[in-house]
Parts: sequence; structure tokens; C-alpha cells
Amino acid sequence: MAANGVTHALCVSVNLETFPDVLAVAERFPNIFASAGVHPDDQSGEEPDVARLVRLANHPKIVAIGETGLDYYRVEGAADWQRERFRTHIRAARQTGKPLIIHTREAAADTLRIMREETAAEVGGVMHCFTETADVARQAMEMNFMISFSGIVTFKNARALKDVVRELPLEYMLIETDSPYLAPIPFRGKMNQPAYVRFVAEEIARLKGLPITAVAEATSANFFRLFKAARAA
Ligand SMILES: [Zn+2]
Repeated sequence: MAANGVTHALCVSVNLETFPDVLAVAERFPNIFASAGVHPDDQSGEEPDVARLVRLANHPKIVAIGETGLDYYRVEGAADWQRERFRTHIRAARQTGKPLIIHTREAAADTLRIMREETAAEVGGVMHCFTETADVARQAMEMNFMISFSGIVTFKNARALKDVVRELPLEYMLIETDSPYLAPIPFRGKMNQPAYVRFVAEEIARLKGLPITAVAEATSANFFRLFKAARAA
């Protein structure tokens, strides 16, 4: 990370079973933060309730609730349990005042509807690993959500997503790995790691005709503003 100019990172929780490991990473390194949540695809682990999430988030290095959201691509059949879990996370976020990390795949309409119904705008957050349209991005931005891009933006066939990057303001952008998946070009297909977000930033700079320093400064400032995280010395 340091060699590539990546100064801070957020380690995202995906289930309750491995949450202690996620928190341990954040406690060990001053420049790493963490979240508390159960991924919408997780069907084998323990189901979280609001009180549990609120309790886990009561720690200075836990700066967000998630990742949560809806994924109709990987989950077949009635996904009532997934929508209920999503609502649980939004309620926990509102109780803690911490922002949400939202995953949405083939479920944009329901994701936005539930965000509205549960007043997610009160805490805001980030639409992570964004692959939807500029219209979906704008609706999320109106609810105080930032839009986070992964290595997908570097892929040659991601034309529609590259257009979304060109359209959206830098003030609402974050960059991420979705590690271990989605390593950017020139590491596509390999195991992703936080240092590689540099290549995501470079592609965003190229698409917007800006120097990489502008993208680096904006995405860093957005990170600290959204997660109310303190810069490590
Ligand atoms: Zn995700």
C-alpha cells in the first residue's frame, strides 16, 4: 500500500464468524478501519439482529455498518430473508449514526426502495463495487451515498461503467478492491490487494482527464468525510 501511495483502507466485515479477525486487523494498524455486518450472500453463518450490530459497531475503529444490501444474482428464489437482513442493517446504522456499505447486484430497484423506506439517507454511506447506471447512482447520491468503483472500471469491456465515471462528480467517488476479487488491469485474474486501488485511481483520472493527484486527494477526502475517520499519523 505504502509503495503505491495508498495510505488508508477499510476492511469490510462479511459475516459474524470472522468479524473478530476483521476487527483485529483494524486494531493492529492505525491506518486500517473496519465495518460490522453480514453480507447479503451469506447463508451459512449466524443471522445478525439490530442490537448485535449496534453492539459490534460500538468501537472507535468500526466506522461503518455492512456490507449489506441485496444480491439477486447469487441468491435464487424468494429473497425475503435478504431484504429483512438489509432492513436490520439500516436500522442498526441509524441507531449508531454510522454510514452504510451497500452491495447491490441485479436488485437496484428494490435496493433503492428499501433505502427510502428505512430512511437510509439519515446516515448515508457508500454504494460499493458499483456496476449500475448513472441514474441509480444519482438516486443514491440524493440519499447521501457515495459511489465506489473497483477494478472493473479498468476492464476493456466495461464501457457503460466508464461512462458513469465520466458523468459523476469526483466529490461522490471512492475507490476499492472488492478483494480478493476484481483485481484491476494489469493484475486482472490475480488475487486483488489494497495496493492495487492505485490502478483504479489511474483509470478514473484518465477517464475524467485529470491528474491522478486530483483523484487521490478527492477520494481520500471523501473517505475521511464519510467515515468520520481520523488520518493516521
Ligand atoms: Zn459486495
